Order: sequence, then C-alpha cells, then structure tokens
Amino acid sequence: MPVKKAHPEADDPHGDAAAADGSDLAEREGRWNYALVGSDLGVWDHNYRLDRKYYSPTWKTMRGMAPDEEVAGDYDAWLQLVHPDDRDFIAHAIDRQNAGDPDYQIFEYRERHQDGRWIWIECRGACVEWDENGVPTRIVGTDTDITARKEAEETLSRLSRRLDLALEISRIGVFEADIEEDMVEWDDRLIAIYGLKGAARRIAGDVWAKSLHPDDRERVLGLADSSVESGSDFQQEYRIIRGDGIERVIRARSAFFIDGNGHRKLIGANWDVTEEVKLRDELQRAKDLAEARNLELEAAKESIEHLALHDYLTGLPNRRYLDKMLDERSAECRAKGLALAILHIDLDRFKQINDTLGHRAGDAMLKHAAGVLKNSVRAADFVARIGGDEFVILCAVDAASKKIASLAERVIRELRKPVRYEGHDCRFGASIGIAVDSGPKLDAKQILLDADIALYRAKGLGRNRFEFFSASDRRDVVSAKQLADEILIGLERNEFVPFYQLQFDARTLDVAGVETLARWQHPVHGLLTPDRFLDIAEDLDVVSTIDALILERALADRRAWIKDGLSVPKISVNVSARRLADPDLGKKLRALKIQPGSISFELLESISLDDCDEAVTANLKKLRKFGIDIQIDDFGTGHASIVSLLRLSPKTLKIDRELIRMLPQSAEQRKLVGSIIDIGRSLDILVIAEGVETVDHIRILEELDCDMLQGYALARPMPAMQIPSFIRAGSWRHGQTAARALQTQLRRALRGRAGK
Ligand code: C2E
Ligand code: CA
Ligand code: CA
Repeated sequence: MPVKKAHPEADDPHGDAAAADGSDLAEREGRWNYALVGSDLGVWDHNYRLDRKYYSPTWKTMRGMAPDEEVAGDYDAWLQLVHPDDRDFIAHAIDRQNAGDPDYQIFEYRERHQDGRWIWIECRGACVEWDENGVPTRIVGTDTDITARKEAEETLSRLSRRLDLALEISRIGVFEADIEEDMVEWDDRLIAIYGLKGAARRIAGDVWAKSLHPDDRERVLGLADSSVESGSDFQQEYRIIRGDGIERVIRARSAFFIDGNGHRKLIGANWDVTEEVKLRDELQRAKDLAEARNLELEAAKESIEHLALHDYLTGLPNRRYLDKMLDERSAECRAKGLALAILHIDLDRFKQINDTLGHRAGDAMLKHAAGVLKNSVRAADFVARIGGDEFVILCAVDAASKKIASLAERVIRELRKPVRYEGHDCRFGASIGIAVDSGPKLDAKQILLDADIALYRAKGLGRNRFEFFSASDRRDVVSAKQLADEILIGLERNEFVPFYQLQFDARTLDVAGVETLARWQHPVHGLLTPDRFLDIAEDLDVVSTIDALILERALADRRAWIKDGLSVPKISVNVSARRLADPDLGKKLRALKIQPGSISFELLESISLDDCDEAVTANLKKLRKFGIDIQIDDFGTGHASIVSLLRLSPKTLKIDRELIRMLPQSAEQRKLVGSIIDIGRSLDILVIAEGVETVDHIRILEELDCDMLQGYALARPMPAMQIPSFIRAGSWRHGQTAARALQTQLRRALRGRAGK
C-alpha cells in the first residue's frame, strides 16, 4: 500500500472538489465502503489536493492496528516498515503506479506487521484525479493480505523444487496426457529419455506409440488402452527405440484421472531401466545357469546312482540293489507279519545260445527274460538280475499263500516259449529255486541262500522246473559246492587223467582206435567218472581246461606206446562246445605239434553247424589244416540234419549207445541203425557203434555192416599203462573168435552169392 509522499499542490486534505461533489459522491463512497469493509480488502485513498488520506479499518487490522487507530500517513516512516529487500522496488513501483503505468497497477511487497512478522501485501491502485497539468492528485486502491497465498506458493514451489530435484536425481521423466485432445505434455527429462532432443513439450499422442519397440508395441498399447478404458492405473515395462535409434528399456507407471474440464487424463512417470534390466537379466541368466547346472548335476547324480544300482543290459536292478532291497523287504515283512519269498531263477540252455548264436543273441534272450519276469510279478515285487543268466524275485506274501508256486509255474511256462532271433527259434527255459520264511527271525540273506540251494536241486532234477527249499537240500548242495572247490584244486594238482577205451574193427575185431575219457582221481572219493564232475566243471567254465589237459596227456601216452613198440591206432578226444568256440584254439593246437591223422575230435551232434559262429567255423577249418579228423558223437540223440553234418565233413559218426542198447530186441531199432550205417557208407563216413555190451550187439552190428565197435563187451575204459598189456593179451577175442569167425565167413559168403 503506498502511502504517498505529500503532494506539493495537495496540502489541503479537504479540498473544494470534495465539497463540490456533494452528497452524490458521499453516497457513492458509502456504497463502496459497505462493500469493501465487508471484504478483506484494505481500502486506501490518497487525496493530495485535499491533503486527506483515508485508510479503511481492514487496511488497519491487516497490519495489526486497531480499526479506529490514527494512521500517521508519513511516507518515510511507512517505508521503514517495508521489507528492506522490497524498499527500492516499492519506491519505484509507487512512482510508476502514480504515473498510471498499467504494469504497476498491481504489485506485491512485504511489510512488517505490528507483532513483528512480515506480511505479504498485494497492492492495487490507480490514479483517479489529476490537476490541470496532468499531475495525479488522487490515488485510490486496495491492499490485500496475501501472506497465506504467498506461503502456499512458497510451499508449493518448495515442494516442486524438491520434486524436481528428486526427478532430476532419479532421472524420471514425467508426462501428462490428455486423452480427449490426444496431446501429451512431456517434461525435459522424458524428452531426453526418449532421445527426442528439440521436441516440443506438447506432443501429439502417437509420438510415444511410435517410439515403442515394434515387438512390444501391440502389447503395451493394448494395456494403455485398457487402462484408459477402465480408468485404472498403468504399470509396464517395455522397450523403446529412441530418437537416436538406440534401444532402451523403460519402466512406466501412470495414473488415470479426470480433470476439471472433464478430460480423461493420464499422468505418469517413465524411467530408463535398461541397465537395471540388463543386470536383472544377467542375474536371471546366472541363476538359470546355476539351476540348470544343478539339475544336470542332480540328473548326473541320479543316473550314476541308477547305473550303480541297475544292470545296463536289461535295466533291471542289479546285485547291489538286491542287497539293499533284501534288508528293506525283510524289515518290512517283519513289521507287517508277512512272509518273504525269494525266487532264484536260472536260465537253462542259455550258455548254449551264447556259445552257438553269439553274445548278441544271448543279450537279446536276457532282455526277453527280463521282460517276462517283470510282466509276471506284481508292481510291488522286486526283480533283479544278479549275474549272467540269473535273476531274483522278492515277494512279500501272506505266510499261507500258494501264489508263489503259481508265479513260478507262470514264469517257467513263459520262458519256455521259443523266442525268434534273426531267423532262429531260440529255445531256453528256466529253473527256479524258491525259499520262503516269515516271523521275527526272518533273515533275507539266509532265504536267498536257501533259494540258491533249491535252484541247484531244480537243475539237478532236470531243469525247466521249480523246487521249494527243504532242509535236506542243504547237505547235498554243500557237498556240491565243496566238489566245485575241489575241482579247482584238483586241476592244480593234476588229478584229472585220461582213461582209454579201445575201439575195434567190426569185421576183424582188430584194434582200430581209442577214445580218451576224462577221469578224476579224487583223493577221498577215488576214481570219478564225468557224470560226477562234468556239470559242475561246466558251471565253473573249466571243461575246456580239462579237454586241453586230456589231449596233452593223450599225446604223451601215444608217444610212450609207440616207444613201447605198439602200433598205435588213432586217438579221439572229446571236445566241449566252449573249447570249439575258443578263438585261441588254433594257436594252442599248433603248439602241440600234432601229427596229422593221429587225432580226431569228438563233437557232440548237438553242436549244429547251422548255429556256428565265426570262431567255430574258423576253428573247424584249422582242424582240417592240422589233419585232425572230426567225429560226430552221440549221433541219433540230437536233431542234426544230414546237410549240416556234411558241412562239418566228419570222418566218423558215432551212434549213441541208446540206439544200440535195444538192437537185439527191436527190429525197428535194427532198421534205424542199419539206415544210419547206409547213409554213412554213401557219404563215405565211417560209423562207430557205442555201448556195445553183448555178443549179440557185436553180431548184429557186424551184420548191419557197421565199421567199428566200442563198448564194455570188448574193452572198458582203462588207464594208459594198461593199454599195452591189454592189446598184447588180445583177450577181447576170446570166447567169440572161433565160432564168430566161422559165422562171419559163412555169412559173407552167402551175401556175396546173393549179390551176384
Ligand atoms: P561219450 O563221449 O559218449 O563217452 C562214452 C561213454 O560211454 C563213457 O562214459 C564210457 O565209459 C561209456 N561206455 C563205454 N562203453 C560202454 C558200454 O558198453 N555201456 C555203457 N553203458 N557205457 C559205456 P564216461 O567216461 O562216463 O563219459 C561220459 C561222457 O562224458 C562222455 O560220453 C563224454 O561226452 C563226456 N566226456 C568224457 N571225457 C570227456 C572229456 O575229456 N572232455 C569232454 N568234454 N567230455 C568228456
Ligand atoms: Ca565221446
Ligand atoms: Ca558218445
């Protein structure tokens, strides 16, 4: 409020002009006074011409004065009350206002309140009267206390400063979008974030949309639209392509509101989170990587564990797993009062398949067997492969259950069915030993041993069958096991020796050959024949060893006989399938320097050439090279076809003693043997009859034109040292020679005549 310096020409405050205006003016003043007194405007009126200064009560109370207090009206004194910073301005502003400068019609300044504080005053004033020279003589105006507004403004600007600082520091850009007008106001930071240097602050709505990364655009615009539609807030992260082409990641939040004009608006903040997102992505990648590695490790660990506990071939649990399971299942059975049944399964004839068809066939059979077992049991039962062709099933059953026997039957039935493998029908079977126990003392390891014993008996009783364990089994088995140990010791101690059984020309009864037969000179049980040890030796896989040492001994004995002046006929040795498949057989035989034509190998008829693998074929070739003849042993018991026999090109067929035994009683048998001899003759193969036990046998075979005879009737197997004296004594001819020689001559003569 300006309290103007007294005007030189306005010394009289109550001039004539006022009087002249009269009651009209007073009335007008009165009207305004009513209006103004009621408002918070402090009215002042400086009339220089009349030298009268008027200040309304509000003008006074605004400054802390009493409404009726006298105002000194002294300009200089008043100026002291103005804030020192505003004084110069005020002096100038009042001059300008008095001069009627419209820019100074309104101005603000601070003045000291009576209580000592500063108040802000907004002063509005205008000159209303001038003298004849144009000098202002009366200035009227209002003062308003705007302290509160000023403070609010101050607070607001403080807040906005603070916000600005915060936004500056956090590099947050702010916008306000007017949906109706499709315009957006961007602040400088937002413009910088979007790399739109030089853009106006008010931008068309689609500028933002165009900045969005093409891959994100649809999604983000959709969200923004639905935010506007639903009037809800928007929160997103998306990529933009800045004005300068750089890709950045933006995080945006905005709030929806409707402004005073009814315009839908979005106000929001954007900030560049590229680095943060990069870091977050990297962390995530690292985390993913770590997790993936963990998974890999976990999987590796699992697969190692699986490998450690499973059989690679069949996928069944292995021996180690079985051991674990034995403890678990026995504890379970003890706790639940169940019985634990263990089936120990051994495939019959599996070795032959392996030997004759090769390991791939063997593997296929094992997989097949594993599948059969798995399909035969309940899900809760446990099947393991514990060795070459051995399997074990664990079943927890009711103590009284009969189910185990039917399970065993089922398994045997299934495993007997022929399996097709590369054009061959492979036949094998299974023997099963079963042991069951229950009660608090149940011991799974013992049950397994018992099942093993029962299995041994099942095999002994003819295979393809199952046997339950019985206590008496244990003794037998213990002795069998003992025998196995003793075989190994016996081999070391050279307890296996050849016996020799002479073979004779069927016509002249001259010695025509000799077969070596293995014997075991057992330190306790005495001389044992192959039926006592060959199966166990087979299980131990030492038959080839026995064959080899018998051959060596036979060669040595032969040399001794020759030295002794004996004309030594051909010696035959029995050769097991395993030995015939031995890839090193050739090397071993070469080392023995066998004289060609002196040795023949007896091969069982069951070694069918159809099934021969490469090693066997190669060995057969080598035998011929070394001048070793081949004899087919036990002919008539197997199913060898004539064709496969021809391919073996054997020198000799040995008719099994089962076919010889009934010759005197059975005409049919005689016919059969006769035709075998005929076949031999037509193929230029010698025929030997085995098991020639009686004079009748000799006679009939001679009649059937058999080439050679072997049997107790002529000579029993004997040790090497007895051979020379036996031959020299010639006792086999006694009792038959004279009569038989005559008979034979007669018969031949008759036959000769009939032929003519
Ligand atoms: P094999 O090759 O058929 O041998 C003939 C068997 O018949 C011998 O039994 C012999 O003692 C017996 N024998 C001889 N004449 C008669 C007779 O008139 N009547 C009766 N009932 N039997 C007679 P052995 O020595 O007990 O041999 C049994 C089988 O053991 C042999 O049958 C042969 O397959 C096998 N074998 C014997 N020695 C060896 C060997 O060194 N290696 C191999 N791999 N197997 C052998
Ligand atoms: Ca033989
Ligand atoms: Ca034989």
